[in-house]
Amino acid sequence: MARNSRNDQAGVDLPKAPINRESMREVLALLRYLHPYRIRFVLALLALFGSNLLGLAFPFLAGKLIDAATTPGPGIHRIALALIAVLAAQSSLSFFHALSFASVGQRGLVDLRRDTYSRLLSLPMAFFARRRVGELTSRLSADLIQIEDTLIALLPQFLRQMTLLAGGAVLIALTSLKLSAIMLASLPPIIVAAVLLGRRTRRVAREAQDRLADTATIVEETLQGIVNVKAFTNEAHELQRYGTGLQSFLETTLRGARIRAAFVAFIVFALFGTVVLVLWSGARLLQSGEITFGELTRFLLYTTFVAGALGQFADLYSQIQKAIGSTQRVRELLREVPECDPTPAVSPADALPRLQGSVEFEDVRFTYPSRPGVEILKGISFRAEPGTKVAVVGPSGAGKSTLLSLLLRLYDPTSGSLRIDGRDAREYPVLSLRSRMAFVPQEILLFGGSIAENIAYGRPGASQEEIEAAARRANAHAFIQGFPEGYATLVGDRGIRLSGGQRQRIAIARAILRDPAILILDEATSSLDSESERLIQEALESLMRGRTSFIIAHRLATVRNADRILVLDGGHIVESGTHAELNAIEGGTYRHLAALQFHDAPQTPQP
Ligand code: ATP
Repeated sequence: MARNSRNDQAGVDLPKAPINRESMREVLALLRYLHPYRIRFVLALLALFGSNLLGLAFPFLAGKLIDAATTPGPGIHRIALALIAVLAAQSSLSFFHALSFASVGQRGLVDLRRDTYSRLLSLPMAFFARRRVGELTSRLSADLIQIEDTLIALLPQFLRQMTLLAGGAVLIALTSLKLSAIMLASLPPIIVAAVLLGRRTRRVAREAQDRLADTATIVEETLQGIVNVKAFTNEAHELQRYGTGLQSFLETTLRGARIRAAFVAFIVFALFGTVVLVLWSGARLLQSGEITFGELTRFLLYTTFVAGALGQFADLYSQIQKAIGSTQRVRELLREVPECDPTPAVSPADALPRLQGSVEFEDVRFTYPSRPGVEILKGISFRAEPGTKVAVVGPSGAGKSTLLSLLLRLYDPTSGSLRIDGRDAREYPVLSLRSRMAFVPQEILLFGGSIAENIAYGRPGASQEEIEAAARRANAHAFIQGFPEGYATLVGDRGIRLSGGQRQRIAIARAILRDPAILILDEATSSLDSESERLIQEALESLMRGRTSFIIAHRLATVRNADRILVLDGGHIVESGTHAELNAIEGGTYRHLAALQFHDAPQTPQP
């Protein structure tokens, strides 16, 4: 059972959903992903039915062969050859339908994965604030694997069992009504018992998954904070926590194993009991000459078909419920309203002419959607002229990052307005607007790839010359050239680790390459040696020239060079002016902050 083991490996027990009209509609909505491949899909269905019908012919011919054996003549050879021909045809059709279902299913799924990921990328920040990353990655992995299994394995399997069950039942009845009655009478108690025990098994299985997930959480927490674990010498404590979790998992699993073992034993007894009962009555019918030997064989073979199909149904039912649960969660994601089209026809940068870069906040208030009732920005108003440098300072939690995330349009103001070049920011296509901005965060994310690729992240498609020119302006060229492989040097897990100062210069090169009208910079708090400080400061000066720059400032050099400093406290702008002006205010917030927070960096001459 490949599908079970894969989900088990992922450590995810997918919740199930009831099978009803609404849920079926969700499933049907996903079937449109098969639409482009419908011809192959229909052919696969036909091949499946064909192969099943041939499967049903097998007991019929086998019965004939046994009857022919009792009469002398060449009859048996003909029937044996026919049996082989049936088998050959059946396996050819099986090959075709297995391959076709897999091909159609995988293609549809690749489309679905792409759509889901594309939708995920285009959703607004408010969505990501509501969801945990683990939950979203689980949708992209476990839920989609479940849907994949449904399309590729479950659907054909379900159709197969249905044909075998229906066809087998009809043929059984045609073979001997008396024996059919005996067999059918014994089925209801088996089904009831199987359903009840099956339910119990599933409950315990889910409980075991939860226990296992608990232990996984312990491992994750411990490994994430491994430095803390070691520093506090808490290895034994963590091991004990993990041990307790494992014990609880073991107890639940063993309980499940006992129920399952009983279930298997019961099914074996009940099914074989039925076969014995049928055989017994069949032997009597054979003795009295009511049926032939071949008919009895045929009957027994059909009975095993039908019993096998019935046995599969309980498992199939539970798999289908899981698949519906997955479908609903993926569909839910696809129904979320995106903030943009991630792949617009016209490139975002081309859709908007260059901006001047004037920015105006007017009585902007903001509350995070995930924390209603807590207003973070409480009436922010200021205007930044094109090409000026605005430093944003304030105590921790004052709302500095929030203010700049509104500028990037990661969120929109709850009230008030934000105007860029005199137009409401919401009037611009969001991707175009962002394409005119560059953001240099504190924590610089470098992707596993070459240095050149990492710089080109600022403007995908940039030429090698442009990348190098940007690196030169960012004071990064010299150190990049110092690596044996230069710009092709890999960074990340498989490559080298860059120092904090080098990473910052890569990020600055990225921003230079982007050539934005508006620059947003969250200055790194970490201190660097004075040479690195000087190189970075120079690179930043070069980057900021001619752009409207907003800097969450941590360095004295930055605030000194700023055209205006906004002092944010408790969601209000409490002071605004130049370093000299604000530093002159006795008892002022800025003066206090400056004394405590800003560390001096080597001074660079004013541009
Ligand atoms: P710091 O200097 O420590 O980075 P800051 O001035 O940049 O602080 P913000 O990060 O803007 O402050 O945070 C302001 C307030 O908003 C804080 O109380 C914070 O808890 C809250 N906050 C920040 N991000 C979110 C979010 N995504 N959802 C809900 N609340 C948030």
